[in-house]
Amino acid sequence: MDTVVGRELRRRWERTVERLLREGIIKSETVRRAFLKWPRYLFVEERYMKYAHVDEPLPIPAGQTISAPHMVAIMLELADLKPGMKVLEIGTGSGWNAALISELVKTDVYTVERIPELVEFARRNLQRAGVENVHVFLGDGSRGFPPKAPYDRIIVTAGAPGIPDPLIEQLKPRGRMIIPVGSYHLWQDLYIVDKTLDGKIKKRRWGGVAFVPLVGEYGWKE
Ligand code: SAM
Repeated sequence: MDTVVGRELRRRWERTVERLLREGIIKSETVRRAFLKWPRYLFVEERYMKYAHVDEPLPIPAGQTISAPHMVAIMLELADLKPGMKVLEIGTGSGWNAALISELVKTDVYTVERIPELVEFARRNLQRAGVENVHVFLGDGSRGFPPKAPYDRIIVTAGAPGIPDPLIEQLKPRGRMIIPVGSYHLWQDLYIVDKTLDGKIKKRRWGGVAFVPLVGEYGWKE
């Protein structure tokens, strides 16, 4: 996007990344580099591109949202992603978070979305941006994604009423899940769920967050 508009979008995005770094929200050089590689404006509709640097959620099709940059950075830092890890994301939305994950793990990433229009939207965004190792599947991610299980990391980007059992089952020993759990109406607590080597589950609460609902068999009913 080497146009005047493209350069301005880039400049604004770089300033957002610098601010997240200054505020200690982006903590690692790897997350900083991923944010610079896949700016949020590549994953929104054209009319929202000029707001992509603003640290707030933005609309995407089907009444869903692309999360605020600070929220995405917090979840990626908590996930502690390393090259080679097998990651499942639940709630593809725009494909942006999956693109960032793929830059951090440098291998295939699996992401599940329940709304067909968003599966298409994300695939289009990923293809246009040039992201090659993200695989988008249509389905109910509250059931996880058994064909590629178990996972080193599961990142859920929609709010669940509880931690879905299939996601716990599909986590490897020493694996970690990041998941918002709470009420349907946009208020949840973000949990870091670790599975020990002997299969025990340890939950820690990070703090309050606001996500659209996880709708499905192990989520909220439609
Ligand atoms: N990660 C996304 C991104 O980078 O744009 C943002 C996700 S948005 C906050 C939450 C998404 O979760 C929505 O697209 C919604 O349709 C999806 N979702 C809700 N319930 C789901 C389910 N059971 N399985 C898969 N996706 C689900």
